Amino acid sequence: MLIEQPPSFIRKLYPSLNWMEETNKNEVFITFDDGPTAGVTDKVLSLLKDHNAKATFFCLGKNVNQNPDLYQNILEAGHSVGNHTHSHLNGWKTTTKEYLSDALKAKEYIQSNLFRPPYGKMKPAQIQALKNHFKVVMWSNLSRDYDSFVSVDQVTDYATKNLNAGSIIVFHDSLKAREKVLPVLERTLLFLAKKGYKASAIKPSS
Ligand SMILES: [Zn+2]
Repeated sequence: MLIEQPPSFIRKLYPSLNWMEETNKNEVFITFDDGPTAGVTDKVLSLLKDHNAKATFFCLGKNVNQNPDLYQNILEAGHSVGNHTHSHLNGWKTTTKEYLSDALKAKEYIQSNLFRPPYGKMKPAQIQALKNHFKVVMWSNLSRDYDSFVSVDQVTDYATKNLNAGSIIVFHDSLKAREKVLPVLERTLLFLAKKGYKASAIKPSS
């Protein structure tokens, strides 16, 4: 996933989207986009297990189709999953009909009503259409782990800056992020433990 510009103006335009997760506990929500990816997701799962942490994986339908065992491993480890479209569509460059149809195709592989838009980019009509099927989950902390020009220190800072109970952190279990996501995830998990935060999975609503 690549964001050319952070969609902070979308946040202002669409306060009804979920930029934080409601909670009355001291917990933070770590999320991963773009997997499952062989050689990355398995290592992420192992690190989460070592730290007794739960997370939410916003999967691409096409990647679940290619890595069904990894997808099962995510669920069996007690994490939650969400829909990140089938083929990583950019909503701004896609018709609403095509966008919804791609998301519903992914739903055949990903049994969840949580949805995160690739690049954070959706048109208003797409948001309306999605809301009939999904809870749209955005984020408060974009780590930029996919950006080769940003250091591990800086990515850790983006991930952990201004955290509160209910904060939603975005990482990527993708090939593009694989150099950074593991060291940054480990640092983030240690940071959360030090601050007394639990890492929890976002629950799909029934
Ligand atoms: Zn993505």
